[in-house]
Formats: sequence, C-alpha cells, structure tokens
Amino acid sequence: MSLRSRALFRSTTFRLTVRYSLIFISSALILFLLAYSLLSDAVREGDRVSMAQKLREYASINQKKGLAGLVEFIRVERENYDYDEYYLRVEGPDGTHLLDLSPPDQQALPDKLPMDLPGPSIQWFFLTEGKDGDLLEMACRSLPGGGVVYMGKDASDREQLLKQFRVIFAGIMAPVALIGLTAGFIMARRMLKPIQDLIDTVQAIDTGRMDVRVPDEGADDELNELARLFNAMLDKIKSLISGMREALDNVGHDLRTPATRTLAAVEMAVATKNDPEELREALLDCAEETRRMVNMLGILMDISEAETGAMRLHLGPTDITELIAETIDLYQYAAEEKNVTLRAVPEGQLPVVADADRLRQVLANLLDNAVKYTPSGGQVEITAARVGTAVRVCVADTGEGISPEDIPRIFDRLYRADKSRSKRGLGLGLSLVRAVLYAHGGGIEVESTPGAGSRFIFTLPAADGLAPTPL
Ligand code: ADP
Repeated sequence: MSLRSRALFRSTTFRLTVRYSLIFISSALILFLLAYSLLSDAVREGDRVSMAQKLREYASINQKKGLAGLVEFIRVERENYDYDEYYLRVEGPDGTHLLDLSPPDQQALPDKLPMDLPGPSIQWFFLTEGKDGDLLEMACRSLPGGGVVYMGKDASDREQLLKQFRVIFAGIMAPVALIGLTAGFIMARRMLKPIQDLIDTVQAIDTGRMDVRVPDEGADDELNELARLFNAMLDKIKSLISGMREALDNVGHDLRTPATRTLAAVEMAVATKNDPEELREALLDCAEETRRMVNMLGILMDISEAETGAMRLHLGPTDITELIAETIDLYQYAAEEKNVTLRAVPEGQLPVVADADRLRQVLANLLDNAVKYTPSGGQVEITAARVGTAVRVCVADTGEGISPEDIPRIFDRLYRADKSRSKRGLGLGLSLVRAVLYAHGGGIEVESTPGAGSRFIFTLPAADGLAPTPL
C-alpha cells in the first residue's frame, strides 16, 4: 500500500465516511429485512392457518370415528367440496398408506416423507416435488389413536414471489449502499471543513503569511467558535509581533544616535594630536552618550522587573503630599522657563506605604511630560485626595492632548505619539510609571482632549486602607 493511500485510510474523513455510511446502510438493511419478514409472514400465514385448522379437525374426527372413519370423511369431503388443491396422506400406525391424494394432474407424494414420527403438535416442512421441482409446504401431526396425517400445498408461486422480492431488495441495496457512501463522504467533508480550514490556515502561516485567517462560516457551533477564537488569537499575536517589531525598531533607532555620537567622539579622539583638552572633551562626550544608552537599557530592565513582580521595592510609610511638593520644586524652574504655571492644590498628609524613590520617579515622569507637552502660557496642576481606601493623584495639564488612537498605546514600551520626535524622550516614561504603580498594587488612567489638555490619574492603596478603589 502506498504512503498516500495509507494516509487516506488513516484520515478522519475516511473514518467518518465509513462510520456514517455504515450507519446509513445498516439502517436501510434493517428496514428492508423487517419489511421482508413482515411480508413473507403475511403471505405464508393464510395457507398455514387453513392447513392447521384442517389438521385439527382431522384429529378430532379420528378420535371419534377411528382411522377408517377419517379416511372415509376425507374421501367424501374431497368428492363433495372443491377441496382438491391439497395433498393428503393418512398413514396407519404401521406406516401403511391408508389414503394418498394429490391435486388433479399432480404427481403423488413420494412414498417416504422426510419426517419421522411427528408429534401431536403440527410440524412444518418443505418438499421439492416432481420433475419441475415444485415446492410443497407440508404440515403433519400424529393422530390420537396412532397413525399420522400429512397435508401439503403447492407453495411455488408464493415462494417465487418472495424470491422476486429478495432479488429486488438485493438490487436496491447496491444503489442504497452507494448513496450511503456518497452521503457519508459529503457529511464527513462538511463536518471536517472548519478543521480543514484551520489546517490550511496554519500551513499558510507556517509559510510566513501572517494575514491569513480561518473563514468564518457564521454558524453558531463549537467548531466555528474555535475558528473565531483562533482568529482572535492570531490577531493578538500579530499585534504583539508588530508591537515587538516596532519596539525593536525604536530601540535600534534610539540606541543608534548615542552609539553614532560615541563613535564620532572616539574617532575625533583618535584623530586629535594628543591635545589633552581635546581628548578630555571627546571622553566626556563618550561618557555622556554611554550614560544615555545605559539609562535607556536600565529603564527597560526596570519596566520588565516591575511588570513581572521582580522589582525590589523599599517599602516604607511615605507622604504623597510631601513627594508632590518636592517634585514641583524640581520642575518649577523648567516650567518657568517655558512660561507654564505649575502648582499643587494644597492637601493635608496623604500617607501611603511605598518605595519613595520609585514614587518620585512616577511623579517626575508625569510632571516632566505635562510640562514638556504644554505650550507657553499653559498650566499644570497636581491634585491629590483620599478616595475610599486609596489615595488618588491627578496630574492635569492644558497642553496639546493625546489623540484617541494613541491613548491605548501610550503606555506601551518605546511608543511615542510624538511621531515627529520634535521633543526629547524615549517613549519609556509612561511604561515605567504604569509598571511601578502596578508593582505597588495601584493603577493609572488617562483622559485627554486633543488641543485642550490631558489628565493622568493614578491610585495607590492608602497606608491604612485595605485595597485601592477602582478608578
Ligand atoms: P516620551 O519620552 O515620548 O514622553 P512617554 O512614555 O512618557 O514617552 O509618553 C509616551 C507618549 O505619550 C509621548 O510620546 C507623548 O506623545 C504622549 N504623552 C505623554 N504625556 C503627555 C501629556 N501630558 N500630554 C500630551 N501627550 C503626552
């Protein structure tokens, strides 16, 4: 057997086809057999009932009048009534034939009949008679005072009819089997179509076509549900891959600039004629650019650690109001430089259990962005309040805002909505903010109107609170 045909026989389509057609063919066969048995019973029953009745009558006559009386009764009956379609034989207790009648123009029954010592209940057997091979259906029973009575009738026509029926049934079964096989194959193919589509899609993806999807048949069954889930999973993987690709491109892009500058500084140092001042300048440039790269890699690692829960936090009682004041002081100068008003709405102490340095980082990143993306004459305001079991901090600005398409992505690593990259930045600030807050059991949300400003709102569990209130 070739590999191909072996694979075909092992295929689910083949196995389902065989199962479906077997069910179909055997149901049809059972129906035919049932119909045949009912039909043959109905055809045979009529003859059998009248022969059995007659034999019972003969037995009772024999009981009343003896064997000679019975023989006499049958002869009279035969002469007077139209009753000559039956074969009749009466045997004495010693086996002598006391009466042997056949229908007109028919041969006599053979001397010896293939039924030894029948009992008092009626027994049935078939006999092939004469040169034409006519089929006789015979009944016999013993008589109460000894002896046996046989009665028979030509059953050739009846059996011929049943034989024709059998031939017709057999003839019908062949196309029925073919229809069963075809229907089984079509059903199996139809059932397995979604799985075949799935296989085709996986094979297409294997050849690098990430945009192929399993066709949605619109059905409300499990296989279509599987196809839909599979497609949703592919969409997710595709967006993850493109996100990773974009992040990698951005890392490459953002690392290339400091790396190129470092290279230029090194080349300048090599080209310099041992002038100590120029060498120092070049080394300082190298250090600056390298620091930039180390800083970027450090933030990337911090984000990973915070997201995976591996970040080591030095937790302690921390007052958010105090941290806000410190950060405002830090950015006041930059804000004034840009003519942006920066202020915090005063609030009492708001204690949280947190890593103060990490929280400073969070506030610094949010304030840095707010000042950076707010044009001259704008305002940046920080408010903080206790809400339920949480402390809620809001950094609001009247800056350029964020477009609705960018909002779901600004917390992604290395994502910058500022496509022109006109402002300094790595696209890592908000990712770090979210990861650090997540590590503290908090969360962050953004509301923004392009051209009108943005509000970044984060929550942290309050020092005496149980759990943060959802935003
Ligand atoms: P970046 O270093 O580019 O500022 P971030 O991760 O801090 O990176 O921010 C991601 C993007 O979100 C920024 O590129 C900017 O487009 C947008 N963004 C963040 N904060 C603000 C803000 N306050 N106003 C407008 N856009 C903002």
